[in-house]
Amino acid sequence: MTTRLHPFSTAPAPVKVWAPGKINIHLGVGEAGDDGYHELATVFQALNLGETLTLIPGGTRSIIVQGRYADAAVPGDESNLARCAVDTLIAALEDGRDVEVLRELDIVIDKQIPVAGGMGGGSADAAAALIGAAHLIGGVDDAVLHEVAVAVGADVAFLLRGGTAIGHGRGERLSPVLTRGTFHWVMATSARPLPTRDVYARFDELHPTPTPAVVPDEVLTALAAGEPEALADHAANDLTEAAVSCMPEIAEVMEAGCAAGALLPLLSGSGPTIGFLARDAHHALDLAVLLQATRGVNEALRTTGPAPGAHVVAGS
Ligand code: ATP
Repeated sequence: MTTRLHPFSTAPAPVKVWAPGKINIHLGVGEAGDDGYHELATVFQALNLGETLTLIPGGTRSIIVQGRYADAAVPGDESNLARCAVDTLIAALEDGRDVEVLRELDIVIDKQIPVAGGMGGGSADAAAALIGAAHLIGGVDDAVLHEVAVAVGADVAFLLRGGTAIGHGRGERLSPVLTRGTFHWVMATSARPLPTRDVYARFDELHPTPTPAVVPDEVLTALAAGEPEALADHAANDLTEAAVSCMPEIAEVMEAGCAAGALLPLLSGSGPTIGFLARDAHHALDLAVLLQATRGVNEALRTTGPAPGAHVVAGS
């Protein structure tokens, strides 16, 4: 593969990558293992609400965060999940491949996913960074990318693939799920973050002996049939009670969405964002207008799923 160079520069041209956010259409939470992580049985759906990263070779390892959700909580150092993903890939490829180009990348993140909202924004950045880095060095084996993704974060492997999938383990053991048509979501964000660890700690207090994590067959049948009403009857998130206990206004927003006609209020991951399932695009628009005026809702964002996984949108 030939890599085009910037005019007046010896560095390869920048690459731009998009990666989706996600909702957990179903989240079954089981027992915690010795490592403290709970056994999950989840159905991920990738959303057409995502992040765009630009990886610029020949830089100074800077991280610039811009866009709708540029936030002081997003780190600009090695702990940023995008940087962490590239550094983990470099370490995994220490087999003689030329990875020099990846060592001094500047990374620009166009943040369109709320931070710490349970929609996997940081994981999307990691997935995008992996795809961009792989592109810059002429491709990386899928199995290696998967391994690196899992090392960086539990949701990163799914966001590489996109679509709809069941995730077991910490969410990294993936199998694709058949879906028909488009599902319409209104994502109601909160102005306040809710740390994932707080929700799991409360879950442990509420459920000292949790039942095994499962995905009901009816959820898969509804997805395959493309029937949002049937999906609403069976999808659930086991973390809901714990999240409400940590942040009571979540229950108020859920009730407001149901009163406004949503088919299903669904905590996204560990929250505090709540995904409301709509019948169709018109219904989603009506819901978004009503939710936007609801106390406790920062923004009501319309989106659809499933969306594709992380992919290059521009670069030579
Ligand atoms: P998940 O649903 O995967 O648990 P989330 O959507 O709730 O994640 P993120 O937006 O991914 O939450 O961020 C959680 C924390 O991760 C942030 O508070 C921040 O400190 C840290 N972080 C590291 N890298 C990033 C990044 N690129 N974008 C956002 N947060 C990041």
